Amino acid sequence: METPKTSNFIRDIINQDIKEGAPLAEGAIVETRFPPEPNGHLHIGHAKSICLNFGLAAEYNGVCHLRFDDTNPTKEEAEYVEAIKRDVKWLGFDWGQHLYYTSDYFDRLYKCAVELIKKGKAFVCHLSPDEIRQYRGTLTHPGQNSPYRERLVDENLELFEGMRQGKFEEGSCVLRARIDMSSPNLNMRDPVLYRIIKNTPHHRTGTKWCIYPSYDYSHPISDAIEGITHSICTLEFEDHRPLYDWILNELSLFKSHPKQIEFARLNLTYTVMSKRKLLELVSGSFVTDWDDPRMPTISGLRRRGYTPEAIRKFCEVIGVAKANSIVDIALLEYCLREDLNQRAARVMAVLNPLRLVIDNYPEDLTEELEAENNPEDASMGSRKIPFGKVIYIEQDDFCEQPPKGYFRLAPGCEVRLKHAYYVKCVDVIKDNNGRVVEVHCTYDPETKGGWSKDGRKVMGTLHWVSVEHAIPSEVRIYSHLFTKPNPEDEGAPLAEEAPLAEITPMAKGAPLPTKKAEDFKSNLNPESLIKLTSAMVEPSLANADVGNRYQFLRHGYFCVDADSVPNMPIFNRTVSLKDSWARSGKAR
Ligand code: ATP
Ligand code: MG
Repeated sequence: METPKTSNFIRDIINQDIKEGAPLAEGAIVETRFPPEPNGHLHIGHAKSICLNFGLAAEYNGVCHLRFDDTNPTKEEAEYVEAIKRDVKWLGFDWGQHLYYTSDYFDRLYKCAVELIKKGKAFVCHLSPDEIRQYRGTLTHPGQNSPYRERLVDENLELFEGMRQGKFEEGSCVLRARIDMSSPNLNMRDPVLYRIIKNTPHHRTGTKWCIYPSYDYSHPISDAIEGITHSICTLEFEDHRPLYDWILNELSLFKSHPKQIEFARLNLTYTVMSKRKLLELVSGSFVTDWDDPRMPTISGLRRRGYTPEAIRKFCEVIGVAKANSIVDIALLEYCLREDLNQRAARVMAVLNPLRLVIDNYPEDLTEELEAENNPEDASMGSRKIPFGKVIYIEQDDFCEQPPKGYFRLAPGCEVRLKHAYYVKCVDVIKDNNGRVVEVHCTYDPETKGGWSKDGRKVMGTLHWVSVEHAIPSEVRIYSHLFTKPNPEDEGAPLAEEAPLAEITPMAKGAPLPTKKAEDFKSNLNPESLIKLTSAMVEPSLANADVGNRYQFLRHGYFCVDADSVPNMPIFNRTVSLKDSWARSGKAR
């Protein structure tokens, strides 16, 4: 799949910076970072950010850091750290020696706060979270100064040290920047820099600290400590940029002043893309776990059978823009099909079996028939598949009274069995309810391999599996996790309330909700997983390795699930063959 290099306005900015020598001074290299908070598993939106940050670093011969933004022990876990590392590696990126944790900077962050206090740029405030919200004002009304704002430097230093030593209760005070309560930008109205969190050990620093820095405070400093040149984040941080710059300007100790650049986050149809919501699906058992193949997490996509190549291709094709939009999930599936088409071996699997007996085939004969593994790639070779007198075909490949235009098996009709012979239906056997339970055919021995010398036409080509050699298996058919293209955007408009991100002092650039969200879980698709438990697959799949990917002829792409046991493989449908993206004419 050849696509032209998509536009990326960040590349233009970096090119300009290289020309002008700032923030890329003489000899400096492009340094980016991917800064996940270890409070959940990565999703496909993070993949966009990973591809962008690691991709730009590679393009400019620079480096990309992996930095765990671990400043909130109440939500973070070491387990997530390991999972995130695994996912970034699996996507094909390498941070080399550049693995960092914001918690490694806690001492320096503390010293920086002391410096701000000494400059009269920060103060300890005893207003409650509610009062901070009231004093903050709104988009149309300026805020009011905190009554603690004019405290003397020495008193602030002593109180802040007291906070560090654990002398105050959680929630009783915070350290705030002293900027401007009448700023039109709410983020500049004396934002919170430090809050007290007690009784929750941090996954790395244990109980050493009971005060933790806010994202807005720690992020610019961490970037500067690491010498990041371009700090790329999502659009909801645009209004935080003045604060990012304010902090670095006030702290003269850093040589480098990274440039914050915002881009539009990825949204996908029929899914949700927020760790908080994904966690809700896991903890409410709406899915089996973070790696449920229906989840948009990297681990879910991996288990579903996605390849890292397909995900990277997708991230390249969608490009990087400055305006929010929702990408059609069909585009992601299109990228996947294009990739799997090249690499997946073709095999035969019957999902809903119906017995077919070939009356004129010798009783105890088994033939080993040659079958190519991938018509797109001869180097993938071929294999032998056993054929016998009794085989399975799909139930819906037979119809006793076929409608017009039915190109499969019916009484008196002839079809091709893929790689085998032509067979013609001569009789059916029914159960007491009149349901067809067995189809009887005759075969033409002159059509071995599935070709006739006289060139006569048949109704169609069916896949099949020999009954004697078939391997019983379970096949899991997945559909979209949600029934609506945008499961989150269906509620009534919010009343004139302050947006959430503004109310919670520590809220980290959360997108401002503009609508009262109907509970997104009410849009879950009850048919997102259908288990077919009586499937039969060809014997070459008996002990296929977990993660192996195949094309089941006429059905789609499937991969071997981790739940498989020897001689009982379980397959996840990765994606069907039906390509709504290509059919829509949107594919190049
Ligand atoms: P979520 O909103 O899903 O909880 P987050 O932004 O809180 O994600 P972080 O761990 O802070 O999660 O994200 C790490 C990086 O990934 C950040 O730089 C963030 O901007 C980026 N990122 C997160 N979600 C997306 C997305 N949907 N599209 C692009 N980048 C994203
Ligand atoms: Mg978030």
